[in-house]
Amino acid sequence: MTFFGARVAILPLLAQLVLLPAVDPSTESAQVCVVGAGIGGASFAYFLKQYSCNSVDTPCFSDIHIFERRSNVGGRMATATIAGDTFEAGASIIHPKNLHAVRFASILGLRPKTESSEFRRDRNMSDLTTSWFGIWDGSQFLFTTLPPPPSSSSALYRKIHSFINALRIFWRYGLSLLRMNLFVNKMVESFLLYYKGFESRPIFETVEEMLKWSGLYNGTRRTLKEELQDVGLSPLLISELVTVMTRINYGQNVSISGLAGAVSLAGSNDGLWSVDGGNWQLAAGLINYSNVTLHLEEEVVSIGYCEKHYVLSSAKGNSFNCEITVIATPLDELNITFIPSISIPRRRLQHTFTTFVRGLLNPKYFGLSHGSEIPNLIGTLELPKIPFSSISVLKKYGEDDKVYKIFSRTPLPDGLLNEVFSSRKETIKIDWPAYPHFEAPEVFAPILLDGKHLYYINSFENAASTIETSAVAAENVARLVVSRVSSLHLNMPSKKLQTRNQDLLHHEL
Ligand SMILES: Cc1cc2nc3c(=O)[nH]c(=O)nc-3n(C[C@H](O)[C@H](O)[C@H](O)COP(=O)(O)OP(=O)(O)OC[C@H]3O[C@@H](n4cnc5c(N)ncnc54)[C@H](O)[C@@H]3O)c2cc1C
Repeated sequence: MTFFGARVAILPLLAQLVLLPAVDPSTESAQVCVVGAGIGGASFAYFLKQYSCNSVDTPCFSDIHIFERRSNVGGRMATATIAGDTFEAGASIIHPKNLHAVRFASILGLRPKTESSEFRRDRNMSDLTTSWFGIWDGSQFLFTTLPPPPSSSSALYRKIHSFINALRIFWRYGLSLLRMNLFVNKMVESFLLYYKGFESRPIFETVEEMLKWSGLYNGTRRTLKEELQDVGLSPLLISELVTVMTRINYGQNVSISGLAGAVSLAGSNDGLWSVDGGNWQLAAGLINYSNVTLHLEEEVVSIGYCEKHYVLSSAKGNSFNCEITVIATPLDELNITFIPSISIPRRRLQHTFTTFVRGLLNPKYFGLSHGSEIPNLIGTLELPKIPFSSISVLKKYGEDDKVYKIFSRTPLPDGLLNEVFSSRKETIKIDWPAYPHFEAPEVFAPILLDGKHLYYINSFENAASTIETSAVAAENVARLVVSRVSSLHLNMPSKKLQTRNQDLLHHEL
């Protein structure tokens, strides 16, 4: 079958359908098949629907199927329940300038979570002046902010408390902090270009083009450490605060690329938020909103190209004929067979072990006397003897009953947990193939995997891995699909896209 129907083409298309050979009844057909129901797959479906069927010569994609190997959607946006409460287990924070996520939440009627300020941040160091934070070197705390003021304290007392914290941080790291903020803000400003309207924003066929256009490409060529040294950050700030943040946010150190590092440092900006009830609802909501067919527990095991369509076969033995196939998951640890084979650069995923513990930390483990209070967020230095990247308090039920989240690069054995915690009532352990192991200079997989209609959203993930970068990459792939199908259909080099909803592109920027 040839490519889909711009509205004008309905009659010729019907004629072709009549001429099609009979199909095996066990095989379904679809226009567009998406592998993965995380934010990448969900936002791709949303944008494809928004950008198609807008005029007589834009194609219509009414038949989109999403395949998800798990029994639920969201992928790396997932929650864990401990002590009867639900906490983010994967992607937990969203930057206020992540305009796609902000918009998704708004159209889906999802509310930002409101939490007590003391434990608001479970994996970042936003607003260090109000959170109780400490840097641990494996033997002692090198630096801590002040413990939070009592909840009964006045607004004035809180202001003074926060001011003293600001002074302490400034005293230790000096003007380098301002340089760090400028570095991050510059990256955020460049990233905002991806929300520009169609007139001034090209459709990109490669990740390199996409990054070069926004000025972010150079940030993928050099390490974070090199970039920060160039902008004049002190060695102390790089080896302490910056290292702590890259360990928390990407489980890696300052040898990640400058761009991934800047994204990680943006996790110390103000205004970070998450979706009340779980960020996974962004994916679930978009899938519902876009009215696509969702196949849960349908793991795609092979993708073959045969006579102008792709045949997706699943572990259940089902097969689906698809005119377009979009991969919305990292391929690095998957066993999908491609026929003919495809070639992508070898990429290692960084595994992050997320351990939830309900109990109480053991002051002795941290070199403190019995009964001592321990900071609510413990960040760590890049030292082999430290078995975890961070520990944060998510919720306090009583003086000796709290829920903690621990990030580590290797699994934490029970023996070690018994040393770190003086009491432990409940433990949940999750092994995430979390994000790429970032290495400068980065090499990117193609977006177009076979020169036909096999697309790869997660090739962008080597630039940075976040909810928003997945959405931005997915939006570009949706535009690319519409453009390539339109030009194929009308035999034109490229098409101007229109969107149903003018607000969609955040024209206020
Ligand atoms: C611990 C952790 C913390 C993080 N923190 C943050 C954060 O605070 N903020 C932030 O913005 N980002 C964060 N991230 C990164 C963020 O979660 C990801 O970048 C983003 O969710 C990726 O979305 P995706 O849709 O591209 O991929 P995924 O979410 O991985 O979705 C891919 C989907 O494809 C499915 N799939 C895979 N193979 C197959 C197959 N063969 N057949 C069918 N289905 C298949 C998977 O089951 C999965 O559901 C974090 C990630 C982790 C792991």
